[in-house]
Formats: sequence, C-alpha cells, structure tokens
Amino acid sequence: MGTFEVIAKHGEHEEIVFCNDPNVGLKAIIAIHNSALGPALGGTRMWNYKNEDEALVDVLRLSKGMTYKASAAGLNLGGGKAVIIGDSKTQKTEGLFRAFGQFINSLNGKYITAEDVGTGVKDMEYIYMETPWVTGIPQGFGGSGDPSPYTAHGVYMGIKASAKEKLGTDSLKGVRIAVQGLGNVGSNLVRYLSEEGAKITVTDLDEARVKTHRDMYKVETTSTDQILFTECDILAPCAMGAIINDQTITKLKCQVVCGGANNQLAEARHGDQLRELGILYAPDYVVNAGGLMNVFVELEGYSHERAFDKTRKVYDNVEKVFEIAKRDNVGTHTAADRMAEERIATIGRLKQRHPGKSSNRSFTTLREVNNR
Ligand code: NAD
Repeated sequence: MGTFEVIAKHGEHEEIVFCNDPNVGLKAIIAIHNSALGPALGGTRMWNYKNEDEALVDVLRLSKGMTYKASAAGLNLGGGKAVIIGDSKTQKTEGLFRAFGQFINSLNGKYITAEDVGTGVKDMEYIYMETPWVTGIPQGFGGSGDPSPYTAHGVYMGIKASAKEKLGTDSLKGVRIAVQGLGNVGSNLVRYLSEEGAKITVTDLDEARVKTHRDMYKVETTSTDQILFTECDILAPCAMGAIINDQTITKLKCQVVCGGANNQLAEARHGDQLRELGILYAPDYVVNAGGLMNVFVELEGYSHERAFDKTRKVYDNVEKVFEIAKRDNVGTHTAADRMAEERIATIGRLKQRHPGKSSNRSFTTLREVNNR
C-alpha cells in the first residue's frame, strides 16, 4: 500500500510531517489529526519500529486517539502525536532531540509535544531549548511534573460517577474494588479509594509493590491471574491494555469496569459484549484524561490546585457518556466517541465563525495559537 493510501485509511489527518536529519540520525513523523478545538497536543514516542510503515500507522492511530481524548475531556486542544524511529536505550542524543525540537518549532504552535513511551523529562528539556511548544518540562521551568497523581484522581472521579450510575450512590464506602496494577496510577488510586473506605483487592507483577500496599492500606491481595475474575463491584484495570478480550470477558465477576489503563477493550465489539452482559464500562480515554488536563494547565501557566480541580470534571464527563449511551441506545464506548465528535462539530463550527480565545489566561502562546 502506498503512503497516501495508508494515511487515507487511518483517518482524515490535517498534516503529516516527516522529519529527517541524517547528521543526528533523526527519523521522525509528526501527525496532526484535528485542530478544530485548538493546537494538536500529544506526546513523542521513541520506539524501535520494524519499518517506517509501522511507525506511520502508529502515529496516525495515536494522533486520532488524542483528538477524541482531548475533546471528550472538554479541553481546547486538538489531537496530534509524534514518533521517533530508534532505540530509546541506545540512540538518544542531545542533537537528536534538539533537531526534532526545531521541526516542532517550524510548525509554529500547531503541534505541542510531551513525554510518551521511550521519552522523558530530559528529552523534553532538549526540545525546550529549540521551541516553546513542549510540555512535561521540569518543574523548575514551570512544567507540571509527573501526571500520574492527576490521572489517578480523574480515575477516582470516574469510579465515583460509575458507582452512582450502577450502584445508585457515589459513596465508595464498603464498595468492593479490584485494582490491577500498582504503578504510578494504581498506587495513587488505591490511596483515594482507601481514604473513602472501599474494600480493595490488589495485584501487581511486582511482589514488593503488593507488600507495600498491603502494609500501608490493609488491602486484600490476589494473584495476577485472578484479579480480573475477582468477585467485586468495580474492576479498575491500571496496568496494560486489551485485558477485556475473548478469553476474559465472560469470566468477569464485576458490575463495572472503570480504570486508568489505555485501550482496555481488545476490540470495539467487546464494548458491545460488556453491555450485553450487563457490565457498565466507563470508557478508558474519558476516565484517564486527568494527565492530559494537567498538561493543559501547564500551557496556561501551571498551578497544582487548578490542575487537581480540573480532574474533578472526569466525573461529569463520565456521567455525560452514560447519558448519551442511554439517549442513543448504544454501548458506552460508542457514546464516548459520539460525545467527542459532537463537541468537535459544535465548537469547531463556532471557532470557524469567530476564533474566540479558548483560554482565559495569560499564556500568550497558547492564546496566540487559538486566535489564529
Ligand atoms: P506503571 O508502569 O507505573 O505501572 C504499571 C504497573 O502495572 C506496574 O507496577 C506493573 O508491574 C504492573 N503490571 C503490569 N502487568 C501486569 C499484570 N499483568 N498484572 C498485574 N500488574 C501488572 O504505569 P502507570 O503510569 O501507572 O500507567 C498504568 C496504565 O495507565 C497504563 O496503561 C498507562 O498507559 C495508563 N495511563 C497512564 C497515565 C499516567 O499519567 N501515568 C495516563 C493515562 C493512561
């Protein structure tokens, strides 16, 4: 398949930039999927792709996902993503990231980058030497730092909204919640759930993490093989994707699936199947948007309080998804997509008529972009 056919197959992207600088070994692709709501924001992934086609498909897919995530989160951001082809363990250099930063700068704010798999704060610092269009820079430069606590707080809000819908109350006292994965997101989530008196069961591949949580929060533990099939009210996947699949779905013993992991459904049809089974699914990209909200606040001029406050909105967003699912008689995963698409259509049209300012505050560069 030719490059243009691949691009057409994966959505209507606005702009795709191939970045090539042999002097520093840079081969990267930036994809801007949709900027109807604002500048396209999404991280830079550094990965040893088998070939360039694989990198292109990945960046097209991921950038489209960011459009939906930002829209559903109610942010004035579009969807974009970048991939650097290379081994993040051996091929990172200052020159590579600074050259990449120059490509980002040439887009003049249409694309804003951040960390992703294979990139970190240090890399963002190099990019920042060449362009202001980067988030996830060190806190000393006004950056927002680790997004995980904000993601976790959003997940906690999503769990409360889901409990309200399925169990009739958003109090989690005595509610049985199984958490898969005790990493950055899962461990912060367990803290919130425990403070509210939920009955928590946890697991992790890392035994030491399990022990720490057992000691700190008096949670129950189970094996990594059994967590998905634990009898509980709410299952909170906070480890890897595709855990709702043909092998697991009929063995679930929960009433709700709501967690922080990305891409929890192996395929969209598993969302329909959850609905048939009477299990309420809170769509992952709506639930785990707290980290993106945090980064958005960085663009506005960072404040921990405002970022934290913003993540409360996940509650309303999840409620709205459930309303649309009922309104249209569809699965919640379809409802989330509709919610995102409806906002892009409505607000995008408004912005065509009058660009508006999209943001109230003083970060002139974001405002400049939104006013363009
Ligand atoms: P992390 O790497 O810090 O933690 C993941 C944890 O899951 C690790 O402790 C790991 O040992 C454990 N794990 C892996 N496989 C497991 C298995 N089969 N059974 C049990 N435990 C297992 O990652 P994180 O930052 O906490 O992110 C967790 C998930 O949330 C990922 O899917 C990530 O993409 C998603 N997410 C994270 C953020 C964020 O702000 N960190 C934002 C959005 C989405």
